[in-house]
Amino acid sequence: MTASSPYYNSDHDAFREQVRRFVERECLPYIEQWEKAEELPRELHRKAAEAGLLQIGFPEAYGGTEVPDLFYMIVLTEELARTGSGGLIASLMSHGIGTPPIVHTGTHEQKLRFAKPVLEGEKIAALAITEPGGGSDVANLKTRAVRDGDHYVVSGSKTFITSGMRADFITTAVRTGGDGMGGVSLLLIEAGTPGFTRTPLQKMGWWCSDTATLYFDNCRVPVANRIGPENAGFMAIMLNFNNERIMLAAQAYAFAKVCYEDSLSYARERQTFGKPLIRNQVIRHKLIDMRMKLEATKASLDLLAWRVARKQMPIAEVCMLKNLATENLEWIAGEAMQVLGGAGYLRGSRVERIYRETKVLTIGGGSREIMKDLAAKQLGY
Ligand SMILES: Cc1cc2nc3c(=O)[nH]c(=O)nc-3n(C[C@H](O)[C@H](O)[C@H](O)COP(=O)(O)OP(=O)(O)OC[C@H]3O[C@@H](n4cnc5c(N)ncnc54)[C@H](O)[C@@H]3O)c2cc1C
Repeated sequence: MTASSPYYNSDHDAFREQVRRFVERECLPYIEQWEKAEELPRELHRKAAEAGLLQIGFPEAYGGTEVPDLFYMIVLTEELARTGSGGLIASLMSHGIGTPPIVHTGTHEQKLRFAKPVLEGEKIAALAITEPGGGSDVANLKTRAVRDGDHYVVSGSKTFITSGMRADFITTAVRTGGDGMGGVSLLLIEAGTPGFTRTPLQKMGWWCSDTATLYFDNCRVPVANRIGPENAGFMAIMLNFNNERIMLAAQAYAFAKVCYEDSLSYARERQTFGKPLIRNQVIRHKLIDMRMKLEATKASLDLLAWRVARKQMPIAEVCMLKNLATENLEWIAGEAMQVLGGAGYLRGSRVERIYRETKVLTIGGGSREIMKDLAAKQLGY
């Protein structure tokens, strides 16, 4: 890896080894069991913290491990993807979307109370933006928080929330002001708050990631739990999305790579008509087309990760990257399934699981259509 890329060095390689050991020891033997149970054990968060995985990219003052670039997160994603489970990444790493607003705009006290125990693997964080009435139109969200002395009284609901059942607190987008983006704030709503209930949702994929609908029935949330100034939440949400989208693209790339690798080794082993499958030109062309799409995605992903580390904000390019990576994943997973034939369709095959999990990456964190609209707007079309 180091020799073939200007972006990666021996520190990234050492980190890759660290993650690989964790995945082999703590994840691969249990992943099927967690998928069936439709949740991850809390213990896994503690183990991931002990292995130094949850802390990457967060400030040291709050238990994080500061790194100079996003390549560590890409390496982490690639190695976790070897489980073939998007649910594992979504749920184990839900703090990656639930905690940054606290770290970027929260108070010192909020960072100590909420962010630190998450990075230690003791607490689980989630992010709640999407509502039953709609997810794409974030500026129009309806969950209302009305000020009453030192508290906000919150009513409304959120849906499709990753880690929503297990989370100890939820970074929740609420309406504290008037209509539109200028009336949105972020509140930390804690499990156990009277009036806060949740129900699990069943999904096509991401089984081991618990997903929930959350209900807030006149929940009293301390004003001290507001992240940043009142009515300034929309910008924090948008900044969060930029990073989330790069990481979703990294996931799409990493899962596409697993599909490619599994179909390549299967094509080498499988004998049909008296010769290995790979000796058929049509199969070799499929594999080369997969590889070509992988190389294109990785080139764009690494370049944008490099630009973000230089404090650039290439929003249009990030939107296009998310679409490129997810389109390529859909195509590669489909072709990998074809190469594996019936074996790919069976439960327990990584390709089968990944194939079921392609769609969620084209929807979550900003759908394909919304990505195109945003990119067009950014480019002045
Ligand atoms: C498994 C899973 C986990 C998730 N985890 C979280 C989470 O942790 N936190 C969270 O807040 N949300 C989460 N989401 C929600 C996700 O972000 C939303 O599903 C997504 O933003 C789309 O919102 P929606 O589903 O309400 O679709 P809608 O906004 O209702 O859109 C429906 C369809 O119409 C299209 N569309 C909408 N508006 C336009 C337009 N103007 N022009 C063209 N097409 C349009 C969309 O692209 C989409 O295809 C999760 C979703 C899933 C499936």
